[in-house]
Amino acid sequence: PPVLAIVGRPNVGKSTLVNRIIRSKQAVVEDVPGVTRDRVSYDAEWNGKEFTIVDTGGWEKDARGLHQRVAEQAEVAVEEADAVVFVVDGLVGATAVDEAVVRMLRRKKKPVLLVANKVDSQAQMAEVYGLWNLGLGEPHPVSALHGTGTGDLLDAAVKAMPETAQHGGLVPLGGPRRVALVGRPNVGKSSLLNKLAGSERVVVDDVAGTTRDPVDELVELGGQSWRFVDTAGIRRRQHMAQGSEYYAMLRTQRALDKAEVAVVLLAVDEPISEQDVRIVQLAVDSGRALVIACNKWDLLEDERRYYLEREIQRDLAHVAWAPRVNVSAQTGWHKDKLAPALETSLTNWEQRISTGRLNAFLGELVAAHPHPVRSGKQPRILFATQPSSRPPRFVLFTTGFLDPGYRRFIVRRLRETFDFSGTPIEVTMRVRE
Ligand code: GDP
Repeated sequence: PPVLAIVGRPNVGKSTLVNRIIRSKQAVVEDVPGVTRDRVSYDAEWNGKEFTIVDTGGWEKDARGLHQRVAEQAEVAVEEADAVVFVVDGLVGATAVDEAVVRMLRRKKKPVLLVANKVDSQAQMAEVYGLWNLGLGEPHPVSALHGTGTGDLLDAAVKAMPETAQHGGLVPLGGPRRVALVGRPNVGKSSLLNKLAGSERVVVDDVAGTTRDPVDELVELGGQSWRFVDTAGIRRRQHMAQGSEYYAMLRTQRALDKAEVAVVLLAVDEPISEQDVRIVQLAVDSGRALVIACNKWDLLEDERRYYLEREIQRDLAHVAWAPRVNVSAQTGWHKDKLAPALETSLTNWEQRISTGRLNAFLGELVAAHPHPVRSGKQPRILFATQPSSRPPRFVLFTTGFLDPGYRRFIVRRLRETFDFSGTPIEVTMRVRE
């Protein structure tokens, strides 16, 4: 679901507002583990639209230590969000700290809803109108305590959040896991789907109204149900798309957007092609969990096998972390290996490393392998946090830019130390002046 972040100075009433919004659904989805006061997210719903609401710690200007970390986490929350609710105190008006928050929000280029909280009477509206000066558009007067104005605010918030969230897209939580079976024409997607689904195929129409054409299928594998997305495109011999790589890629992209995990199918009777590599790249870039499946294994001759392994090492080295399954859609050989691979990739895709473990790992790593000194300077890593998963994303706060080589070294060690097989991971640096 799309993410709505709530930011503002301490004591402007953010938590009261959050409680007001989620009052019917008190479920805490996740406690992002952190140094101290971390952001916390909740399931919320308004007019049938579900979203995730992220409460951030108070943002303070020129803060140090604890407060600075809270501010930085608020920034991370804003970056992860699809829309932002910025709360100011309607009794006080805009302060210098609020103006600093506005500058931060401008840089992030996210839709922002300005909220004047604690507005309990018409007499306070003069102060509210003054907030137009912040340049964030119309202020929404609310009283989180009494619940006035929050309905209008939520209408606007729901409108501001895009249908397709920036992360995770349309992928809903719960229900059968969603699989995109992708690969260039003739690698055996349709044959594999037939073998896996057998006669117990269940065809599921797509969510009403969104699109006419793609259809999903429910397939039982390894004792559970999986939803293979957009299988209509696989079933129908794709006349239009034959020979048109552009449409094939577009369809692949669309399936990936709907899925949680991708199975990229290759055919071992032919050399790995550029199109195969491009499809693998699309899957990686989509941020989905990944399994590589090598089909037509029954056709593999000993001599070809040697070259196949070399091609995989050469062309797919950058996805060496993905589990690989060798199969034959024709004979059904190894078809039972697919479900365990999917599960491994999905588990790691959802993995969360606590801030404590993450920083313990980094502390040891940096002590044993310090960053090289460059022209008398040595950037330090201050701390790290994992703001989100599906796939795992990490932010490292540093005192200067890290060498690309050192950065790769950290990513490699991160992969080795925690099990991230089957999932892309994203590591970004944040230089703190
Ligand atoms: P798609 O375009 O990826 O859906 O590929 P298809 O499933 O239509 O398969 C293309 C061709 O490869 C068909 O002639 C299949 O019979 C054949 N094929 C698919 N999988 C295998 C396999 O595991 N072994 C062999 N020998 N042939 C296969």
